[in-house]
Amino acid sequence: MSARIIDGKRISEEIREEIKQEVERLLARDVRPGLAVVLVGEDAASQVYVRNKAKACDDLGFYSEVHRLPASTTQDELLALIDRLNGQASIHGILVQLPLPKHIQEKAVIDAIAVDKDVDGFHPVSVGNLMIGDDALLPCTPSGVIELLKRTGNDPAGKHAVVIGRSNIVGKPVSMLLLRENATVTMTHSRTPNLPEVARQADILVVAVGVAQLVKRDWVKPGAVVVDVGMNRLDNGKLCGDVDYDDVAPVAGWITPVPGGVGPMTITMLMQNTLKSAKRTHGIA
Ligand code: NAP
Repeated sequence: MSARIIDGKRISEEIREEIKQEVERLLARDVRPGLAVVLVGEDAASQVYVRNKAKACDDLGFYSEVHRLPASTTQDELLALIDRLNGQASIHGILVQLPLPKHIQEKAVIDAIAVDKDVDGFHPVSVGNLMIGDDALLPCTPSGVIELLKRTGNDPAGKHAVVIGRSNIVGKPVSMLLLRENATVTMTHSRTPNLPEVARQADILVVAVGVAQLVKRDWVKPGAVVVDVGMNRLDNGKLCGDVDYDDVAPVAGWITPVPGGVGPMTITMLMQNTLKSAKRTHGIA
């Protein structure tokens, strides 16, 4: 038997439809969710991401501003822009596209974003709120993973989830979210001994490592749900995940493809955070 596919593209479209309906409800009350995206420098991949975010805003009826700044922009100039956006009423979410040029400290920039406009969920206060279970704007890729699980009937409650990778942007927050959803969570990383054996304990296996096709069939318990966050470019130009899809799909119960799994969810969750922030600002339930 082959795994059922967790179709991130379809689920992402489903959520965007829900967001569109919410935006119409807000527009009737003269509220338009607004997102500011800031790009410093000429990084080719970042330019594509920023274009996609602006397009998502247009498609969903959001107000958006894209600030394209030269690579020579100083940290003070960038902080001044963020300060202005923090105070701008038409903007409910601020996203600074990472990575930044080396002369700018990422931490100083993230810390400068107003917590209630932190739609990336990277601000230390947002991270703390996630940790203690307070209402927070959640980081986009990890919350996308949870949506994929829930919308395919794979409720994490009572399951054993194993997360491979402990980065601040994926591994740690996805582990906290799974815990919040009442999974029993094992976090693993490059120093975990017997990793295939640990992974094989998982009912839900979330992989965010950045090593192409690391996870093989013998890492997966038959019937397990496998969520592949990885996005790696092979020498032939093809995109692939951290899971060896062809090897694992015959044993898994559910699996996300790459592309078309977690990837499409990230921008959608960014839009959902911006909507949430707009609703909060205007006291709309
Ligand atoms: P990262 O910051 O490089 O973290 C990688 C993590 O994997 C680290 O915790 C590292 O362990 C662990 N690791 C590395 N090699 C390992 C191995 N052989 N065995 C076990 N653990 C290993 O990466 P990231 O930012 O979390 O991203 C992970 C992947 O997700 C990348 O492919 C990235 O492109 C992708 N991604 C996708 C999206 C999306 O929208 N779909 C968003 C973000 C990231 P140590 O801590 O011990 O070094």
